[in-house]
Formats: sequence, structure tokens, C-alpha cells
Amino acid sequence: MKHTAARSLALRLLILFFCLGLALYYGQLAVRGARFASYPTNRHVYADGRLVRAGAITDRNGVVLAHTQDGQRLFNENAEIRQATVHAVGDLEGYVSTGVHTAFWAELTGYDAVNGLYSGNGAGHNMQLTLDADLCVTAWRALGRRAGTVGVFNYNTGEILCMVSTPTFDPQLASADAGSQKGVYVNRLLSGSYAPGSVFKVVTALSVLQNLPDAQTRTFTCQRGVTIEDEWLSCLGNHGTVDLQTALVKSCNAAFAQFALAVGRENLTRTAQSVGFDRTLTMDGIACTQSHYEGIGARSIDFGWSGIGQYNDTVNPFQYMTFMGAIAGGGSCARPHLVAGTDSLPGKARLLANRGRVNMMRRDHAQVLGDMMRKAVTDHYGDWQFNGLELCAKTGTAEIGDRDTPHSWFVGFCRAESKPYAFVVVVENAGSGLGAASSIAARVLQAAPSAE
Ligand SMILES: [Zn+2]
Repeated sequence: MKHTAARSLALRLLILFFCLGLALYYGQLAVRGARFASYPTNRHVYADGRLVRAGAITDRNGVVLAHTQDGQRLFNENAEIRQATVHAVGDLEGYVSTGVHTAFWAELTGYDAVNGLYSGNGAGHNMQLTLDADLCVTAWRALGRRAGTVGVFNYNTGEILCMVSTPTFDPQLASADAGSQKGVYVNRLLSGSYAPGSVFKVVTALSVLQNLPDAQTRTFTCQRGVTIEDEWLSCLGNHGTVDLQTALVKSCNAAFAQFALAVGRENLTRTAQSVGFDRTLTMDGIACTQSHYEGIGARSIDFGWSGIGQYNDTVNPFQYMTFMGAIAGGGSCARPHLVAGTDSLPGKARLLANRGRVNMMRRDHAQVLGDMMRKAVTDHYGDWQFNGLELCAKTGTAEIGDRDTPHSWFVGFCRAESKPYAFVVVVENAGSGLGAASSIAARVLQAAPSAE
């Protein structure tokens, strides 16, 4: 009897361990299966470390950006389109971590946790993007050899038409060969982080509207700058007495630093966070780099600088593009997204989960901000470059140390009904925002298709 009991216990223990092992295996498979299957050594979808089995990726007009033919993964035959869209489409080795090829790997190859890679027709699923490939080429040509990014989206529908990042490379060639160029695999729209300079004044202006009862009548004085607790904060002009609107149109540092001090550290921080600072925004589930605002605990002079986009402020271009969309849309806008549709079921669920609207501010505040940005274009930047767009915009020239040429920013949106687009342009080390970035914005927005 003793022997039987001992054997029975041993058998039970064996079965228990077996079941635990099985549970562990399936648990791991469910959680990490996609990662196991996406190892470049997996011969079902890779050949020589390059993805070969996946569905087609097309732009909004049906232009094929990547597809599989005879066991070979091919990109568009036009080299300009390939280079202008590679940061959105991604490469075959996974160097561009935010590209569709990597970020939507499971949906594209047809992988799911139950069937693994053996589901469907064995050819993966197709994905249609909201991008306009021709518009991306226009933006890529306009950026030229300079590093930077251009993002344009429809604030009514959320569709991103243009998402270009430079420097770039040709995904039809081996991605590793492009690595010598600095940051070539980084999608600067989603993952970039820059000192914002004067484009940050739009955040400070919003905080003024939210927190000062006399926001639109209060004035401050600029005498080529202002003294804050015995320290000098310089301005590029001698603007005299200015109200909020004039301060934004002329981009007066002295007035905005004083507006920031009048609003206070807590309030300005709260406003910054309400428009996306210090939060992780996502696009189709892909996490973007956070924008950062630090006012609490700063000395008065530093806090003054922080209100005009210097000090420790950093901005992610995608966050700012969304912020511009929210102003354009009366305080909220459709969440920007890149994937229009897919025939993958998990893919469809993922897209649904990332739709909806982004709310950032009150409607009347959005209206006043938009009017001030419109006036900056008509009275200061020159509307002639932006015919028919009813452009509302703000420039930024972001100082990045004493030796380097500043980054050039231009952000805003069109009020014209036929072009409901919000945009962001950043050109690295290109000097004044009114110049490099604004002329790129003009070219791209004029070339953008009319919305249906
Ligand atoms: Zn000034």
C-alpha cells in the first residue's frame, strides 16, 4: 500500500508539473508570441533578415507603397516616394521602429496569438494609410538636405496626409547602410524633441486667456527687453506698450515673460499639461516622445524665459500638430492617425481603440487664439505666400546654445473650408522661423489636395 501511495503522489506531482509547464508555455506564447515570430531568423516571414511575407501598404489614393511579389518584398518603384514615406511605412529590417512594417508587424503578416502565422491566406493583411504620397514628396523636396520634419493632418477627420522626416534613406536598399547619417531612422514627427522658441507663446497666451480676467486689455511694456528681479530678459524689438494680441503678432519676449509671471507657475504648468505637455500621446497606439514643460521651482528669470519657449522647454512636433488642430477645431479635434483601414481583424480593433477626439480647451479661447494667429499672418508674416488658405500661424526661432544656428519652426492651421489642415514644420539649424520653415509650409499647404 505504501508503494502505491508513493507512486500515486509521484504521478500527481508529475502531472502537476506538466500542467504548470504547459500553462507557462501558452502564457509566454500569448504574451511574447508576436515577438518570437518576428525574430528575423523566422524563415516563414524573413529571408536573409529581411521581411518578405506581409500584405500590401497603400496610400490614400491607392498608390502601392510596399507589397510582396514572388516571395520578395518591394517598395514603390519611385525612389522619391520611397524616401519620402519610409518613416511612415518602415523598412524590412526594423530599424525604423515606429514605421508600419514594425509597429503593425502582427497585423501586416497575419500573425495572431491562437493561430500564429498559419492563419488566413498565408499572405498577410493589407493596410491602407491616410498619407498622400505625392504630398510627402513635395515636403521632402522642400526640406531638401536639411534635417527636420513636416506634419499635416485634417483636423475634422484626423487623417495624417503628410508625415516626412529628414534625413531619410531608401528602404529598397539595405537599411544598415544608411546608419552613418545622424538620426536617419528616427521619425522626427513622432519621436523628435526640440526647444520650441516662440511657438510656445501660444501656450502662454492660452494660459493668459484662462487665468487673467482682463486678458485682452492688460498691457505690458517692452524696452528691448525687461528687467526681472535684477536680471535682464532681452527682446528682439523695442515694442513699447503692448497687449496680448500685439505681443503675439510681434512675438514680444518682454511682454510674454511678464504675462507668464502674471499667470503664475502653477497655472502655466496646468495649461501646458492640458494641451499635451508631460503626457505620452499616441498615434494608432504608437507612443510619441513627450513634450516637456518645467515652470514649478524655476527662478523668476528662468520662469520668464520658460514662458517664451526657452529655459528647459522641449516640444515634440506631433504634440504641437495636435495642439494646432485643437485650436482650429474650436477646442478639440479628431485624433491624428495614419492607418485608414486594414482587412486584419485585430488591426481593425486596434484602429477603433485609437480614434475619437482630443479635447484641449474651451471653444471661445480657441477662437481668440485662432484670431490672434490669423492676425500674425495678415499683419506680420505676409498673407501673399498663403493665398486662399486663411492661414493662422506662429513662427519660432529656437535658440539652442551660443554657437549653433537656431531651429526654425512654423506651426498653425488653415481656416479655408476646402483645406481643413493643421500643420507643423521644424527645420534644424535653419535660422528664423519666418524663412525656412514658413516657406516649406506654404509649398506643402498649397500642394495639399482639397478635402471632400
Ligand atoms: Zn518686445
